[in-house]
Amino acid sequence: MPKEKRKNRPSNKIWKLYKIEGSDVKSTHETCPKCGQGVFMAKHKNRLSCGKCGYTVFAGK
Ligand SMILES: [Zn+2]
Repeated sequence: MPKEKRKNRPSNKIWKLYKIEGSDVKSTHETCPKCGQGVFMAKHKNRLSCGKCGYTVFAGK
């Protein structure tokens, strides 16, 4: 595969997933520990999953 130029710029959509509280920016979604910041886990009934790498976390509650 040829190397692709990647712009590591989050889209505007992503900002909807953050809450700004005072000087802190808090994410309202879990981020994927594998993909890092900017990749959010999709919420399911009993689990969170990453659409990018497929990483899944089951809620233990
Ligand atoms: Zn991921």
